Formats: sequence, C-alpha cells, structure tokens
Amino acid sequence: MTHCPAVQATHESSLQGWGRLEMVRARVARPASVAEAADIVRESGEAAVTPRGLGRSYGDASYDDRGVVIDSRGLDRYVAFDDETGLLRCEAGVSFADIVRTFVPRGWFLATTPGTQFVTVGGAIAADVHGKNHHRVGSFGAHVKEFTLLLASGDAIRCSRDENAELFFATLGGMGLTGFVVDATIQLRRIDTAYVVVDYRRSSCLEDSLEAFEQGDAAYEHSVAWVDCLATGPTLGRGVVMRANHATRADLPANDSGAPLTLPPRRPWSVPYTPPMSPLRPWSIRLFNNAFYAAHPDRRAVVDIGRFFYPLDAVRGWNRLYGPRGFIQYQAFFPRATSMQGLRELLSRVSGSGVASFLAVMKSCGPADGGLLSYLEPGHTLALDIPWHGSDARMRELCTAFDDVLLRHGGRIYLAKDAVTTAETFHRMYPRLADFQRVRRQADPDGRFSSALGRRLGIVVN
Ligand SMILES: Cc1cc2nc3c(=O)[nH]c(=O)nc-3n(C[C@H](O)[C@H](O)[C@H](O)COP(=O)(O)OP(=O)(O)OC[C@H]3O[C@@H](n4cnc5c(N)ncnc54)[C@H](O)[C@@H]3O)c2cc1C
Repeated sequence: MTHCPAVQATHESSLQGWGRLEMVRARVARPASVAEAADIVRESGEAAVTPRGLGRSYGDASYDDRGVVIDSRGLDRYVAFDDETGLLRCEAGVSFADIVRTFVPRGWFLATTPGTQFVTVGGAIAADVHGKNHHRVGSFGAHVKEFTLLLASGDAIRCSRDENAELFFATLGGMGLTGFVVDATIQLRRIDTAYVVVDYRRSSCLEDSLEAFEQGDAAYEHSVAWVDCLATGPTLGRGVVMRANHATRADLPANDSGAPLTLPPRRPWSVPYTPPMSPLRPWSIRLFNNAFYAAHPDRRAVVDIGRFFYPLDAVRGWNRLYGPRGFIQYQAFFPRATSMQGLRELLSRVSGSGVASFLAVMKSCGPADGGLLSYLEPGHTLALDIPWHGSDARMRELCTAFDDVLLRHGGRIYLAKDAVTTAETFHRMYPRLADFQRVRRQADPDGRFSSALGRRLGIVVN
C-alpha cells in the first residue's frame, strides 16, 4: 500500500453485520468528499475495497478483513431537490432516516423503503432493497434515476438507464461489487399526511394469508403479514395481514388533522448491552406470538409512518437480544407458481426444527426491475430471524435444509440478509450471475471491489 494521506487516514476497526455472527478487524476509511474517496480507491494499491453504509445488511456483505472498507457516512449532503417533481439528488451516505426527517414535513416520502430507516442511499442501491409495496412499485432501483459510480480506476462515471446502462443494472443489487456509489438522484413520492390507514386482518393459516395478499394487492399499496412460525398443522402459517394506503387529510382523527405532515415524536428504548443468554427462546416466542395474535383482531387504524414502516427502529440495538452468538435472517423468495408449496415446506421445517423465529414476515412481490442480481420477481418472500443456537454444524445443516426447499421450488435467498449459503447453492439460485460477472470484469478488471460475501459466494473470482 502506498502512502497517500487519504489511505493513511484509515483506522482499524471491528466490524460486524447486523446479525453479529462474526466480527472482523478491518482498515476503515471515511472519505468526506468524492475526491477523497477517489484517492482512497486509487492509492490502496492491490488491496481490496469494500463499500459500507450503516451496516444494516445481516451477514458479511459490508466488510472484509483484506484491504480497505470505505465507509460512506462522510458523504451525507443533499445536492438538489425539486419540490415540483420530487427528484432528490444526494450523496450516497445520506440515510433514509434523514430523508424521512427532512422531506415528510414537506409532503414527500420514499417511493419504497425497507423495514428500517437506518440504511444509506448507497446501501439501498447496492441491495436494491424492497418495501411493503413491491407488488405495486417494484424495488428501490425502480425509483433511482441515476447515480455516480466510483470505479476501481478512481474515475467517477454517471450511470442511468440511458448512460452506462449495463453498469447501472449490475450495480442495482450488485452488493457494492462494481464500485462505490458516491451520489444518486432518486424519485420521492408525494404524501398528503405522515400517516397510513391500516386494515389488520387475522389469517387462520398460510392459504388465508396468501389469499389476503391476492385480494388486496390491487387495492392496497402496502401489505405485509406477520407469521406465527410456531403454528403447526391446520394453523400452519397463521398470522396477521396488515394492508395499508397513505392517509389523506380527511382520514385523520381531529386531534392529528392540524399538523398532518408532522411525525409524532418517538422515544426509542435501547438494548445497552448483550445479555449472556438470549431471552428469545421458543417458550418466550410462543407467549409473544399468542399475545400478538390475540391483540390484533380485524380492525382499521390510522398509524403514523414511523410506527407502520419502521416498528423495529423503536428499539435501538435490538439485535443484541439474540445474545453473544448472534442470529441470521433467512429470507426466502418463491415465485408465484410455487410459493404456496414452498412456503408450506419451509414453515414446516422451521416449526419442526426446534428453533423459533421471533420475527417472521411475509410480503407479496411484483415484477423485477432489471438489476442483474436483484432479488425479487412476482411471488412471495418470507423473512425469518433465527437465533444461532447449538453447534455451528447443526445450524449450517438446518440452513442447508432450508436452501434445499428453495432450490426445489425455484426460490432464492436475499444477499442483503445472507450469511451462510454456499457458492454452489447461490450460483444455482441466480441465473444472471455470469452476466453480472462479465459487466463487473469490464468495470473492475483486477477485481478490486470485493467483500467477505463476494468471496464466500464466488461472485468475485477475478
Ligand atoms: C431491521 C431491518 C429491517 C430490514 N428490512 C428490509 C426490508 O424490508 N427490505 C430490504 O430489502 N432490506 C431490508 N433490510 C436490509 C437492508 O435494507 C439492506 O441490507 C441495506 O443494504 C442496508 O443498507 P446499509 O446502508 O446499512 O448498507 P450496508 O449494510 O453497510 O451494506 C450493504 C451492501 O451495500 C454495499 N454498499 C453500501 N454502501 C455502498 C455504496 N455507497 N456504494 C456501493 N455499495 C455500497 C455494501 O458493500 C454491502 O454489499 C433490513 C435490515 C434491517 C436491519
């Protein structure tokens, strides 16, 4: 490594994914400008470069113990906003939390958003994240007009559907393996209020939940189902389906109608330390599930954006509750034709395995947007938080059994969540990998952009 001031400004740090399955020591640089970022990439010699945002991917996507991790959080400025069209240009380290705080009071919200607002625009592009409205508006990439990508050569280029289009579609969902996104222009969506009207509907089994999606997909912009993963037999897959549309001013109760675009204050709690033993055990999860199910009869309610889209953000550091060994989030996608059978088999395996998922969330998905490694197409996705209990061998065996269900039904895992899948399994799930690798080789012939995930899954081979 040469002695450039930008590279000398790196510091050693311990990094993890959100699932906290492992911790690595890495050299981290936090550029404050595009020029500094370019220096870091140029001057880090042969070493690998791994982009990182807010570290909300669950596995090993946002770190590597080789080379330099380039942290986008110093690039956190807005560049331009058009109040007529809702087009926002900002640096890649701007967080969704910032965007919500700044733009909801002005009548604009993200066109789609994941279940936490603590992600960066760069991280959202790299994972091509999806929200509760994928069935209606696709994933985040569908609302990205263009971005600037810093290549391994240190040159920055514009990418859009018309300019460097192959790189645009390789970078959407490309998990930071094509370059470092330094800024982006994204489309926000207009809102009348900071609230949604939610219809809660209990479902008695998996068929019932899928039918609720089917019936509601045209009428509701947002839908998600909480699933009781401990239910078995005729109640397998029972849950609470939550379907929502953005509220108009007329929908608001009188006491909220004076300030329709003001987000109610939220006082988050936090989990300050990691308990030596996780309180999330099958018996406690069963108690929680029964209480949650009972507390959600069919009803309609007006709920603020924070509580509906980001319920988990109310507890800072909730991932510590899984104890010192951490957890994985296994997120399965099944195409529409096989989703009923695939989900049924997966849920049966989970409930029969002795592990319990505290969070099990199902969503309905619409057409894909063109990202070469993007995750979703028409079908259903089920995300399961699974504590890493017992021996590593047992847990890996369990994940392999889950992967087998996916492979048999044409499904796939989500890279932003994955921590354990093998290269062979991944290659079978992502048929456009070879196209991605070809585009990546042209942009980065020496394979400088890398990550622990990229190496584990054999995405990075040159
Ligand atoms: C509670 C919770 C709920 C979630 N819900 C959802 C959900 O509903 N839907 C969904 O899709 N995801 C969801 N996620 C996952 C999350 O949206 C993604 O992992 C997202 O990529 C995290 O963004 P980040 O800024 O933290 O990126 P990081 O985790 O730091 O990085 C993620 C990937 O992006 C790359 N990257 C980061 N910044 C850049 C950049 N500037 N240029 C190029 N590459 C970059 C990294 O190399 C890495 O591969 C959830 C995560 C949590 C913790």
